[in-house]
Amino acid sequence: MTSEPVISLSGVVKSYGDLTVLHGVDLQVQRRELAAIVGPSGSGKSTLLNLIGTLDRASRGAIRVAGQDVGALNDQQLSALRARHLGFVFQHYHLAPGHSALDNVADGMLYAGLPLRERRKRAATALDRVGLGHRAGHRPYELSGGEKQRVAVARAVVGEPDLILADEPTGALDTKSGEAVMGILRDLNADGATIVIITHDQEIAASLPRQVRLRDGEVIDDQGAVITR
Ligand code: ADP
Ligand code: MG
Repeated sequence: MTSEPVISLSGVVKSYGDLTVLHGVDLQVQRRELAAIVGPSGSGKSTLLNLIGTLDRASRGAIRVAGQDVGALNDQQLSALRARHLGFVFQHYHLAPGHSALDNVADGMLYAGLPLRERRKRAATALDRVGLGHRAGHRPYELSGGEKQRVAVARAVVGEPDLILADEPTGALDTKSGEAVMGILRDLNADGATIVIITHDQEIAASLPRQVRLRDGEVIDDQGAVITR
């Protein structure tokens, strides 16, 4: 049996004016993979993740995410795709400062048309899952960096997305908090989540099953990919 990759890029070029940042990237990620994208600063990692996350559009080439041809969708369809199928984790958390941890997570399901009570119930479960059930009523300023990132991870997973994209999720954290966040991402992957993580931390990258190495906008190495045919 074959199942379609969660991510499929072919010949993807991204330019900003005269500056070409991605030079024809081919990449496939299968369901249940846990992959690192690594490379020096400026090599195009965030640009690549933003294209996969449909936050930006390719200049050339084809991108399929969660079974959909991204280039064929309008902006409204892309936001629906993101809301239903993708979860994001950013280096600096991107939590709403005035909202409790619980409501930040509940906001991860706004699209679903569920009543607030149901969203909060699911959010509480997701917070328990990242070990923060006891912090549900706290606002971001009352949480440590590691706790904020765990809230962000709970928000990313609460809608049960097909794919979680994380851009330097441990980049702003001390080693111990970073390890806690990575442990949660590993557990989520073991439970079936497909996850792509940008990291410049070689140790973290080496600890993941797959490493896609980017340099100057090209994939120069790809170790540990799941091969399907
Ligand atoms: P990385 O995440 O690997 O550090 P980025 O993908 O952020 O790299 O950036 C790759 C290159 O693209 C850099 O030279 C950066 O300056 C450039 N770049 C990224 N976004 C834009 C943009 N919106 N406009 C112009 N140049 C950009
Ligand atoms: Mg970056």
